[in-house]
This record gives sequence, C-alpha cells and structure tokens, in this order.
Amino acid sequence: MPTMPMDETQAGTPRPCVLIVEDSKTAKAMLQKELAEQYILLHAMDGAEAWDMLQENSQIDLVITDINMPRMSGQQLLVKIRTSDAPHIRSLPVIVMTGTDGNADKNLAFLNGANDFVNKPVDGLEIQARVNVHYKLANTIRELEKSKNALAHQATTDPLTGLKNRRSFHELGEQILQAASGGADFSIIHLDIDHFKQVNDVYGHAAGDEVLMAVARQLNHVVRAPDVSGRGGDILARIGGEEFAILLPNTNRLGAAVMAERIRAALEKLTIWISGTCLAVTASLGTANFRGEKVETIRELLNIADRRMYLAKKLGRNRICVNDDGKTNFHG
Ligand code: GH3
Ligand code: MG
Ligand code: MG
Ligand code: MG
Repeated sequence: MPTMPMDETQAGTPRPCVLIVEDSKTAKAMLQKELAEQYILLHAMDGAEAWDMLQENSQIDLVITDINMPRMSGQQLLVKIRTSDAPHIRSLPVIVMTGTDGNADKNLAFLNGANDFVNKPVDGLEIQARVNVHYKLANTIRELEKSKNALAHQATTDPLTGLKNRRSFHELGEQILQAASGGADFSIIHLDIDHFKQVNDVYGHAAGDEVLMAVARQLNHVVRAPDVSGRGGDILARIGGEEFAILLPNTNRLGAAVMAERIRAALEKLTIWISGTCLAVTASLGTANFRGEKVETIRELLNIADRRMYLAKKLGRNRICVNDDGKTNFHG
C-alpha cells in the first residue's frame, strides 16, 4: 500500500491547517497529541510571531491561542485578527484558552471576537470537537458567502454577453440619478442594432448570438477607452434582445453625443466573421441628458433616449439622434 502524504486525509482532500499560539511547551505538546492526526499544525511562541505567520500563510484555517504570552498577548492577537484588512484573516475562527481562573479573560475574549473559549488543562476530546465544529462552520459560512455572491452576480448579469442586465441597469441608474440630484449631471444612451432580425433569418440564431457578443465586446472597448476628460465609471448593459444602454455619469448633453457617435462609428467599422462569412453591423442610437430633461426616474430618461433612437431609425438608421426634432443628428 502506498503511504498517505502527510497533509492529506483518507479522502485525498488537504488536511485543514491549525495555528497553535502557545508559549508553554507542555500545553503545546498536549494540543499536538490531540490534533496532529486530523490537522496540519503550525506553532507560534507568542502573538507577534503568530501575526507574522498569518500574514505569510494564507492556508491557515483556524487559530487556537493562549492569552498570557510575551510580546503580544492572545487578546491583542485576537483584536488584530478581527480588525485585519484581509477578509480571510478577519474571518478566521479563533479559539482562546487560558489557565487563569475567573470569567474576566473569557468575557474579554468574547468581546474581542473569539469564537470559543476553553480552560487549561485542555481536555482532548473537547478540543477536538470544538476545532472540528468551528472549522466546519467557517467552511459553511464561506460556501454560503460564495453562493450569495454568485447569485448576486447572476441576478445582475446578462448571461450571453456578461454585461449588466436590464434590472441592474435600472438599479444603478436610480443610484446615479439620486446622486446627481445633488447637482451633478449624467446622460444615457439607448442603442438598437439595425435590421438584426435579418441576421437571425439568414444565418441562424446562433450566428445572431455571436453578433450580439461581438457588439458587446466592441461597446466595452469603446466605453472603457481612456477619456480625455478623465471621466470613468460608465455602465454598459444589455437591456433587451438587441438593445443596449449606457449610463454616463458626469456627462453633459454634448459629451453623450460624442460618446454615441464614437460608438456608432466603432460598430460600423466592426467586421464579424461567422463560418467564413463576414458580417457587418450598424446601430441606431438615442441620447438623453438628466439636466436637459428634468426627469424624476431613470425609466423616464430611458424612454426619452428610446424615442430618439426610434427617430434615428426613421431617419435612415446607422445614426445618432440627440434631440426630438431629429435635426441635430450625426450621419454615418
Ligand atoms: P430594426 O432596425 O428596426 O431594429 O430591425 P430589427 O430587425 O433589428 O428589429 P426587430 O425588433 O424586428 O428584431 C429584433 C430581433 O432580435 C428579433 C429577435 O428574434 C432577435 N433577438 C432578440 N433576442 C435575441 C437573442 O438573444 N439572440 C438572437 N440571436 N436574436 C435575438
Ligand atoms: Mg502563556
Ligand atoms: Mg429592438
Ligand atoms: Mg433592431
């Protein structure tokens, strides 16, 4: 039978790593005896050494710390852990132990954010059970956090293009609108691909999807390009089948027109190869400016940009429209 590597369990998963912070050789030896079979054990002589090890070793899963130690006490270490800038250190499970009588140390440890407290001399089965439960709990919390983040990402992202979705666009738009109510300005662009149905009809739905992805990439490219004014933070979203919208914080009417024209020109230049065929796309764009329109919701502002986008369609497509008379429009 091949021998099992030291840091792997029977199931082949890495053994969790526990940092023991203890200046007493006897207490350390006792903990090692009880935990060495299930855990990889690291040892620090005091809080200061433990703190250095935590900075260098992100594999540490749990800390067991004594309180009374030279240089840095267990309570001081605990405070440093709980106020760390690094989330993986801040959330580490910490079990505090002491041989001191009375509740003062215990109460302070819990106030400082300890997950658990044991009295010395530590009982073997008890410390095993407590380490197990806190390790598992920390893992469960981490998994929950991950699924929460994944769900939040799914709820705000368009799966085809990876851009923000319609719902997210409205939420972020409302936030920007509220912020702008304090005196700032912002604009919005509504974009619709021209004759997109024909792409589906002639080349198939999968080709249509390819075109949508290529358009999204090109939009990202233009929107993220360095801006001479130093503006940033534009938000790009796919808000419908072949419809996109862009939120432009700190952008006036003219700035929105410049961006819309830049986008129109970039899409016109875009060539998309699908199964050996080169496809071209154009789009019609409408813009609306917050200060210019005096609207109260992002929906109202989007409706105005949408109306102008339709005007751009009516005027011949592949153009931008920045007001309702259609006179000030830029041709491709
Ligand atoms: P116009 O220039 O007037 O905008 O014409 P259009 O053909 O682009 O507009 P229309 O609204 O008639 O057609 C939009 C098409 O977009 C119809 C629909 O099948 C297609 N579509 C919507 N969502 C998707 C998608 O996710 N993938 C693909 N491939 N097609 C989509
Ligand atoms: Mg001590
Ligand atoms: Mg459309
Ligand atoms: Mg269209």
